[in-house]
Amino acid sequence: MESMKPLIVANWKMNPQSLAEAKRLFNSVKKGIKKTRNVEVVICPPFVYLPILLTPKPYTLNPKLGAQNCFWENSGPFTGEISPLMLKNLGCDYVIVGHSTRRKLGETDEIINKKIKAALKAKLKPILCIGETFEERKKGKTFEVLRMQLEKDLKDIFQFKVYSLKFIVAYEPVWAIGSGNPCPLEEAKKVYLFLRKISHQLLNSRAPYNSEGICSGSTNKLLYGGSVNSKIARDYIKAGFDGLLIGGASLNPQEFIKIVKEISKAR
Ligand code: PEP
Repeated sequence: MESMKPLIVANWKMNPQSLAEAKRLFNSVKKGIKKTRNVEVVICPPFVYLPILLTPKPYTLNPKLGAQNCFWENSGPFTGEISPLMLKNLGCDYVIVGHSTRRKLGETDEIINKKIKAALKAKLKPILCIGETFEERKKGKTFEVLRMQLEKDLKDIFQFKVYSLKFIVAYEPVWAIGSGNPCPLEEAKKVYLFLRKISHQLLNSRAPYNSEGICSGSTNKLLYGGSVNSKIARDYIKAGFDGLLIGGASLNPQEFIKIVKEISKAR
């Protein structure tokens, strides 16, 4: 059974600058959330810190670890790439795919689709990031962009029985990320309802129903990400989101712990 706890994902991006700092940050968070059992926490550090933070094994309790990216093949002549199987074998559970900073570097929806399939094949849980730019929002194209991204990024993933993996989609408006300018709650709520509907259609319409007639794929997780801090974290959960993706605030252990504690009170 997949956990229905709210999910808080920390994206450290290309930080911190040394292993000593990474260990300090990780250990502070681990200590601070020790007693919080009703929230699932995933930390996504840079690749180089993963093997060290994943020790000692087995690694089952909060926080779990995820990668910020992966390649779409498991081995071969792909200089500088990291495969999903390597991450899985290391003990990672999650991988962020399609973050806007990677899309900005040229990652297309076709590439993202290949990465999601490769991650699922390796039994990693992909956290798919989607979101509109400032310009797209200004032109009123938010829903159109989100629908297009979801359709392309999730193309043909039914072969991987995603409905049993409880697929995770993070709505991350590009203009809100790292800007100190989170998506207004009313707007985020509308997007949440839209994404709930679309992702249900895309991910669950072919999912089987159990003997009680309950669709086993009705619990995909939708996260919000974009300039969240401890003062507003709860609002997004109350608005319906199943969790949060935290960038900047996850580098400050006290602030990140506060966010986790706020969420633990919200449900
Ligand atoms: C992110 O990088 O995914 C993110 C949400 O960043 P921030 O919280 O800093 O806006």
